Amino acid sequence: MNKKVLIGDYDSIYKLITSFENIFDYVKYLVIIDTTIDENDYTLNYESYLNKFYLETDELIISTNYDYDVLKQKLPQVNRIIYARDWILEMLKETKIIHKPKFIRLELSTVCQLNCRECYMRKGNYGVVGKGYLKFEQFKQFIEENPFIQEIEVSNSGEVFLNPDLEKILKYSYEKNIYITMENGVNFNFVTESNLEALVKYHVKGITFSIDGVTQETYGYYRRNGNLNTVLNNIRKLNEYKRKYNSYYPKLKWQFIIMNENDHEIEKAKELATSLNMDIFYKVDWSGKYIPKDKEKIKRITGINFDDTKMTNDICKQMIFCPQINWDGRLLGCCVVYRDDWKVNVFSEGLINALNSKLYRKMIYTLLGDEPVNEITPCIDCETYMNCNSKGMKIII
Ligand code: SF4
Repeated sequence: MNKKVLIGDYDSIYKLITSFENIFDYVKYLVIIDTTIDENDYTLNYESYLNKFYLETDELIISTNYDYDVLKQKLPQVNRIIYARDWILEMLKETKIIHKPKFIRLELSTVCQLNCRECYMRKGNYGVVGKGYLKFEQFKQFIEENPFIQEIEVSNSGEVFLNPDLEKILKYSYEKNIYITMENGVNFNFVTESNLEALVKYHVKGITFSIDGVTQETYGYYRRNGNLNTVLNNIRKLNEYKRKYNSYYPKLKWQFIIMNENDHEIEKAKELATSLNMDIFYKVDWSGKYIPKDKEKIKRITGINFDDTKMTNDICKQMIFCPQINWDGRLLGCCVVYRDDWKVNVFSEGLINALNSKLYRKMIYTLLGDEPVNEITPCIDCETYMNCNSKGMKIII
């Protein structure tokens, strides 16, 4: 009889059960722990839940980096305790579970009208992903072939509003009960009235707006060719449609990339975001040129800890939980890949076949803790790969 218990935080468990088919052929109980409580309560919670189940438990799959030795000591009755990451690796290798993610990332447009200073796409001459947009007919066919898909992130390297088929795609997704998010980012300089209404009418789940200043001078420094007033007016109009339709969606987020040229505006941005019914979050620009004059102050306002130099390979999780696909169907894996692809096309070869292609599968094994891949892959010159994965640092699920 199946006696496995999968235990962990909500986010990890949710990702696991929405990315792999057949998990419930092996797992009997899911136990979700509240990670917002402090560490001691968390430990107690873990144990009290497990004590309820332990009579029926012979294998415990833990989905976080919970202290393995402590757990083993406290639960001697459990035959085997294994990290979810290691268990998934084992099950994939034995072909007991199938990688079939319900969330994917499908780029609607790599075309963009701005010329942002650090844009890797423009600097790298669009890499191999090219300049283009996804056509409605391809999108429709993709959904028909993969009816298990529940949510699609459509923004990444370009501006989704430059895709002429956008509204048809939103309407079709809505009719098929598929959530659309634009959370990687939009610049929102060019949107039609009908685009704005469609975002609300078809329940786009969330949008992140890239706005790095509250004056044209600072905004335009980075977002060259962009106009701050146009963007803010478009957001106001979007809020009017939300009121008209009495809709919570789309949820609006403001992303502010902090630079030496704009860090004096971070507080004002927070106030403006609140007045526009938006959450705000801050990031440091990729160039590494930003040096805060007053680290403590910036930390207090933005929550960014500049003393924390921990390396993370979180983006790599997209390869498993929400793989990135280019507008022409080429599998990219994660959102930072643009110079190379995984030499397989999802539109012509099928999503599941693409995710099971040899090299891509090997990389997933690496991310789960297996040997580094020897062949040349799109990851090879990625900073994350050089810092984390090639040194055997495993992702945390
Ligand atoms: S190593 Fe880099 S390119 Fe490869 S999956 Fe991770 S973030 Fe993406």
